[in-house]
Amino acid sequence: MTSTTLINPADETELQVVEHTTLAGVDDAVARAVSAQKAWAALAPAARASALRDFAAAVGGAIEELAALEVANSGHPVTQARWEAGHVRDVLNYYAAAPERMIGKQIPVAGGLDVTFLEPLGVVGVIVPWNFPMTIASWGFAPALAAGNAVVLKPAEWTPLTAMRLGELAIEAGLPEGLFQVLPGKGSVVGERFVTHEDVRKIVFTGSTEVGKRVMAGCADQVKAVTLELGGKSANIVFADSDLEKAAATAPYAVFENAGQDCCARSRILVERSVYEKFLHFLEPAVKGVAVGDPNDEATEMGPLVSKTHFDSVTAYQPDDTDVAFRGTAPTGPGYWFAPTVVLPKSRDDRRVTDEIFGPVVTVLPFEDEADAIALANASVYGLSGSIWTRDVGRAIRVARGVESGNLSVNSHSSVRYSTPFGGFKQSGLGRELGPDAATAFTETKNVFISSD
Ligand code: NAD
Repeated sequence: MTSTTLINPADETELQVVEHTTLAGVDDAVARAVSAQKAWAALAPAARASALRDFAAAVGGAIEELAALEVANSGHPVTQARWEAGHVRDVLNYYAAAPERMIGKQIPVAGGLDVTFLEPLGVVGVIVPWNFPMTIASWGFAPALAAGNAVVLKPAEWTPLTAMRLGELAIEAGLPEGLFQVLPGKGSVVGERFVTHEDVRKIVFTGSTEVGKRVMAGCADQVKAVTLELGGKSANIVFADSDLEKAAATAPYAVFENAGQDCCARSRILVERSVYEKFLHFLEPAVKGVAVGDPNDEATEMGPLVSKTHFDSVTAYQPDDTDVAFRGTAPTGPGYWFAPTVVLPKSRDDRRVTDEIFGPVVTVLPFEDEADAIALANASVYGLSGSIWTRDVGRAIRVARGVESGNLSVNSHSSVRYSTPFGGFKQSGLGRELGPDAATAFTETKNVFISSD
């Protein structure tokens, strides 16, 4: 059996060894899930709702514990990690309302009664990346369970600890054995087996576009449903008529949060040429003011990168000071620290403009007018998120409709609320998570006609 030795990214100390689930282990877990799902779906909707509220309460009681695990395993600042654990509780509570609201339709037809049922799929496989280990997991498992499914969940190799604890909390809260199982292990073993196993009826994959394409191709073999949440290279578009100081003061937090390891990171700042220099003038103190340091410190706003491998990948994009306008600060010594970095590339085709670096590196480019801003924002294979700064309401509407992206915010950087849909255009993904319709995405519509003869 293989295993991963987990390393604390803030100080490079060893945390623990986590054993990987084997192929046979996955098959056993899926068999348990198949039988648990049947019993779960047969429960009264109110009983399923109540069980999910109990699970939410158990998570709510473990916020400090979950946050401490995420700080140690992922290097997230403790205030951020607490928010993430609270978010998991909130997502569970939100979808706890769904079992009693899985409402079909009554459709007018001749000769009888026609009704639709939203039937659970069976077993759902959720595959999670390392950047937001617990929140992203909950976006899959909470609505899937609410719709009457069982869930097998594979956390990322580097960051399995919070997901494993969530699996235990589900049992402690009284969820049936086998209904929600967390299976740490390799993508090429556990993840691929979810895709190839005939009893896993849907895959929710969040991760890189490269692996997402393979998962989608694998799902095609069995015509298996798939939701993909993939990469991003989102634009933060700043017009000359905006509140420039506010746009500049908030821009670092739209890209450097979680050390830039955020699929929604606004890693391309596009600024109207007439205010380009002025914007950079306001941006510099904001970037230098980001508090980078010990994730356990309540004042810390940005921690380290998640691993040595990822540190090397980010560094390869920005090994030196080429085109660097300015940098923020970062601790020296052990840990995978990378200071917030602002780059002024000479070309719109620079790979730091086109590639998802997934680290605290942001490019700032000038644009000429509204049409140029939209064209530049859309000059990407991705389309996940983005921000628009302007005081002109008409322009805000035109640009928001023009940018090919799933989640936009005007005069703010908000992306994710559990009550609103989330997902990407183009190669950022397929399908939507969260929001009022997410549980329905874990069902098949069944149409039944009952003759009145
Ligand atoms: P990754 O694609 O390397 O891995 C994601 C998950 O897939 C991991 O659990 C991994 O073990 C598993 N996996 C790897 N190979 C597999 C295979 N052949 N079959 C099945 N599963 C396999 O991504 P990562 O490096 O962990 O995460 C970073 C990426 O995730 C970034 O591109 C980021 O943009 C993206 N992301 C997207 C969203 C979103 O909602 N759109 C959110 C967070 C992260």
